[in-house]
Amino acid sequence: MKALLVGEYRDGALLGSTYETVAFARELGAQSAMVLVGDESALPHYDGTVYLGSAAALGEYDPAAHKALVLAAVEREQPDLVVFNHSSYGWDLAPRVALALGAGQVSEVTGLADGAFVVPACNAKLQRTVRPASPVTVVTLQAGAFSLPGEPAGTPRVETLTAAGGPVSLVGYEAAATGGVDLGKAEVIVSAGRGIGKPENLAMIEALARALKGEYGASRPVVDAGWAEHNRQVGSTGQTVSPKLYLACGISGAIQHLAGMKTADFVVAVNTDKEAPIGEVADVLVVADLKQFVPALTEKLAG
Ligand SMILES: Cc1cc2nc3c(=O)[nH]c(=O)nc-3n(C[C@H](O)[C@H](O)[C@H](O)COP(=O)(O)OP(=O)(O)OC[C@H]3O[C@@H](n4cnc5c(N)ncnc54)[C@H](O)[C@@H]3O)c2cc1C
Repeated sequence: MKALLVGEYRDGALLGSTYETVAFARELGAQSAMVLVGDESALPHYDGTVYLGSAAALGEYDPAAHKALVLAAVEREQPDLVVFNHSSYGWDLAPRVALALGAGQVSEVTGLADGAFVVPACNAKLQRTVRPASPVTVVTLQAGAFSLPGEPAGTPRVETLTAAGGPVSLVGYEAAATGGVDLGKAEVIVSAGRGIGKPENLAMIEALARALKGEYGASRPVVDAGWAEHNRQVGSTGQTVSPKLYLACGISGAIQHLAGMKTADFVVAVNTDKEAPIGEVADVLVVADLKQFVPALTEKLAG
């Protein structure tokens, strides 16, 4: 099994998510090479061939040129798999590459099961296991699903590739407005999940956050329901946070939520289900009804 990993580069730097593709290849037991549009000064720590296109010449994203470079690397490596992150870059480029190769595509892979790919279905309430039948398959990886056990290491062998520019080029990046809340800076975050049951119960989460001198956050269903603003959402399509203390209240621990908070120093989860997946990343799992536990803890802190 051979995998071509597509690295990512933004604002002049290699993105750390590039190493998630390396972790995926390792977990799969696949040989790998990498293709990257970036710069010699920001190469990955990687023990293998890196086919390098110049971001200075091609731009950090030009769909036609980046596709041509990936296809050129495919031509050289003849991989079974072409591996992207499930990022805005991967969302746009992976289907273009799959179409050009006549390859199958499996999107948002969150795990492996006997060499087959596990992907979420029905808004991640179910998961499917997919074993592609196409000779070449393009996959995209859910953020945070694969990680290297230690620091990445190695020095790549660089081969330079070039391509002609296309009609679309990147103008720039624009940060989403945070509306005054920067969860990334909070040392304590108390987050509300669907387990709060109704919007009125968000007040008890906010009260606990205040008592702990922190901020409150939310899982996506709470935001989708309009109970909290999007700038409070933690996860792969929300904010990535690294507080000293993360208190997850009524949050099951879906991979997309974990992707946003798994680097917290200490995680406490409050859940009525002792088997909830959040228990696997929590330092402390409190098996309780949050409607009883959260106000009781807030009262204790006040007293
Ligand atoms: C492309 C994509 C991107 C996504 N991005 C994000 C993201 O950025 N952030 C995010 O959070 N999700 C994201 N999701 C959604 C994610 O897959 C999950 O659906 C979501 O995280 C589940 O939220 P939850 O844990 O609040 O709800 P649920 O999964 O419904 O869990 C509710 C939990 O509350 C517990 N509970 C119920 N009642 C109580 C009670 N009284 N007391 C204590 N515990 C209770 C239950 O046991 C359960 O574990 C994304 C999904 C997709 C497909």
